[in-house]
Parts: sequence; structure tokens; C-alpha cells
Amino acid sequence: MQATTQLIHSIPVDPLTGAVSVPIYQTSTFVQEAPGINKGFDYSRTNNPTRATLEDLIAQLEGGQVGIAFSSGLAAIDAVAKLLRPGDEIVAVDDIYGGAYRLFTQVYQQFGVTINFVDTTDPEKVFNAITPNTKLIWLETPTNPTLKISDIEAIAQIAKASHCLLCVDNTFASPALQQPLLLGADIVVHSATKYLGGHSDLIAGLVVTKEKELGAKLKFYQNACGAILAPFDSWLVIRGIETLHLRVQQHCRSAQEVAEWLQQHPAVDKVYYPGLKDHPNHEIAKKQSKGFGGIVSFSLKQDSAEAATAFVTSTQLFKLAESLGGIKSLVSHPASMTHKTIPAEKRRAAGVTDSLIRLSIGLEDAGDLLQDLQQALEKTNTIVKTTAAEAVPC
Ligand SMILES: *Cc1c(COP(=O)(O)O)cnc(C)c1O
Repeated sequence: MQATTQLIHSIPVDPLTGAVSVPIYQTSTFVQEAPGINKGFDYSRTNNPTRATLEDLIAQLEGGQVGIAFSSGLAAIDAVAKLLRPGDEIVAVDDIYGGAYRLFTQVYQQFGVTINFVDTTDPEKVFNAITPNTKLIWLETPTNPTLKISDIEAIAQIAKASHCLLCVDNTFASPALQQPLLLGADIVVHSATKYLGGHSDLIAGLVVTKEKELGAKLKFYQNACGAILAPFDSWLVIRGIETLHLRVQQHCRSAQEVAEWLQQHPAVDKVYYPGLKDHPNHEIAKKQSKGFGGIVSFSLKQDSAEAATAFVTSTQLFKLAESLGGIKSLVSHPASMTHKTIPAEKRRAAGVTDSLIRLSIGLEDAGDLLQDLQQALEKTNTIVKTTAAEAVPC
């Protein structure tokens, strides 16, 4: 059976009423027959039927044993970080998601956890960064916003040989394209806020573990710390996942078209998209994922923050906003938005130049998206020229 068919039929019909949509069990507690004797649920922080359906669904999609749904992607990452003890070290991808960077360096570092950032596109660099104290390798692939790809299988082997866990933040790819657990990773985390939810209408996080025991540990932390996903939001994520494969296929198709179009545009300098043959990690992306995703980044020939600002305020269909993975196309300027707190020199060295622009390709008609990009690039050119002319003293 194909994954899409399996997915649609893995969402159970309600055994009580026959409802084809999972009921939203909006309840805090469950009546018990006698102390400790219940129908499998006693209190919704610990377990809730709607959330449990989502948790089983994501575990199945990622090919893992245990799924856990959190109130945000960062809460999911936080639960994984709680596996560490003072003195432990993390080896992490160098262009890590900003929120994970803040969590590791500003929260966990004060509890005695050390983070080493390396260029994980080279597995040898990962290997060389590992010390006897390394307990966790943290990957994102593709990364944000320059879409670097790391070889999950090669790094999983290094993790195994070094007796540390490999966790992959699979937000950008989604399980429709990439299943890290099947490539040897131990844990997958998601910001379900993005492709899994898919409609920019909720904040949610998911964790999936390959092994039951590790899943039980993380479930313990969730119940002990309390960052659960509410029943209604769980239902919304289930509803999003039901169309995940279809949406992601279309995101990929349009993103490829946009990337190729940008590449031939005279106002555009570099285009970052793993589906382009000249992307430095194109072959690894092809090997480990079924598609190249819906995010495209590019820089302008006119490499200034002014030009980038002119562009991101000139698009009509692409709305200027943080986040990604929804049905509506979004545009963002990492240097002044998501990556603002990173020192300029460090930021530029990582490829996040002043004019770098990130697009989240939505589900609009691809031709309409190209037209919007064309008019915005023309307008940018006019604005930049006018500003330059005004700056010249008479
Ligand atoms: C958005 C995002 C997160 C954080 O998720 P929230 O749901 O916003 O807490 C983590 N990792 C990646 C790659 C993201 O894009």
C-alpha cells in the first residue's frame, strides 16, 4: 500500500459513534470506576484521546515507536534537551534554527551543558567534534535559510559508534519527503506549526523516537513539565497531516519552478535550493529525500539591506512574515528578522548576506507566483535607483 493510502486509513473511525473525523475530547479529566481503574485515560496532561491519535499518527509517519505532541516546536526541542546532564556536550549543526540556538546557549548552557557548532555537511567535522562527553548530535537538514543538506545516514553511523544520540529536526522536509529514523537517527522533532499543520493557524511540536524506552523517558518529561498540545490543536494538526503528501508535492513542484526561474533572472545573484543541480549537496538530498522541499532562498545582485527591504515590501502574493510551510506564500528577510541577533560578520560568513531573501512557496498557481516575483524585482530596481539618484548632491 502506498504511504498516502496508508496515512488516510490510519486515522481510526471513532469506535463509539462511527464518526469519520477524530472527536475532539475537550475534557480535563476522566471518570474512574474505582481508584486507578479507568478506560486508559485519567487526566488530559498525562494522556488525551485526541492527542493520542495524533501521536500514533506521527509515530507511524516517521517510522518510530513513540510519538509525543507538545505545545510548540521549541517545547519539543526542550524535552529532548532534558535528556542531558551537567557536563554533557551537544554537537550541533552550525546554522541551527534561532530558537534552538537560544534555548541551548541561553538556557541549557547555564545548567552545565556545552554546545559545539560544526558544519555538519561534512561528516568528518562531526566526527572530529565528538568528545567522550558528547551525548547528543543535533541536525537540521535542510537548514534555514541557506538550505544546506547533511548526510543523515553517515552521521547516524558516527553517532552509533560514539554512543551518542542523533536527533534530527525534520521541520523543513516533513515525513512526506524524509524519514530520519529509517536512516538511523534516534529522535525526530518537528515544529508542526509549519508543514504538518500546513495552514499557518496553530503552534505545535512533535517528537518521535525510534525506541520505546527513549519515548517513555520523553513522555515522562512531558507529563512532569506539562507542555502538552491541547485537544483542539491536536485535531487541527491531524487535519493538516491528512493532506500533507498532496500539499508537499505541490510545494516542491512550484519551488523547483521558482528556483529555476530566479536562477536565470538578471537581478538575482545566488539561488539556494537543494533541487538545483549546482547546489553543493544536491546528490545527498536526492539520496535521502523524496523531494527538495518548498523553501527557496536567494540573494540580489544589489547586495544591500535596502534592496532586500524594497523587495519584501513589494511582493503582493508573498506576504512578509516569519514562519513557513503554509498554503499561503511567505517572504522574509533573515538578516533583519530571524537572524537579526547574530553578529553581522558571523551572519554573512554563514551565507546570510544583507540581501538574502527566503521564500516559503505556497499553494498558489506557480505562474502567478512568478509574476509577483517579477513585478517585485522590477519595483526593487526602480526604488534602489531612485534612492541612489536622490543621494547624489546636485
Ligand atoms: C519554527 C521552527 C522551530 C520552532 O517551532 P515553534 O513551533 O515555533 O516553537 C524549530 N525548528 C525549526 C526548523 C523551525 O522552523
